[in-house]
Amino acid sequence: MSADPSPGWREFQIEEAGSTGGHCECCGTTTKRVWGFVRRNAEPVGAYFVAWTQGKPDHGAKFDLILGKWGDAAIKDDRYAVALDYRLIEGTPQFMVVDALNRATSGSPLVGTALKRTDVIGTPLATQVFAIVDAVYMSDSAGELRQWNEY
Ligand SMILES: [Zn+2]
Repeated sequence: MSADPSPGWREFQIEEAGSTGGHCECCGTTTKRVWGFVRRNAEPVGAYFVAWTQGKPDHGAKFDLILGKWGDAAIKDDRYAVALDYRLIEGTPQFMVVDALNRATSGSPLVGTALKRTDVIGTPLATQVFAIVDAVYMSDSAGELRQWNEY
């Protein structure tokens, strides 16, 4: 990528767990949604979801994360949803944290709280969030998004 990735993104391991297809509401082009798990030192950190319209860099992409505590003792109130929009701005990949309430992940039975942009920006959580989306971006799940950068 032409922008520098966040420090620490290599600490996160990305494991794709599934994918599905659909059609863009505005133009009918094939869409793709992939999801999987995020780990750090083999410990579960969260789940990720990436959605985009194939061959349409101008549509951008949506990245969603579910972060917090996992394992048998954790409950949904231990976890929260964070949402980001991905865009190419003058050829440079840019992530922007947006309100998670508008995303499907906010209604997930795994999620207690949907974080707003203001809950994330300027906090230590933001550093982790940007490192995780960079790790997802660099993984096989986002191979097409990295090609957009070469259009
Ligand atoms: Zn479209």
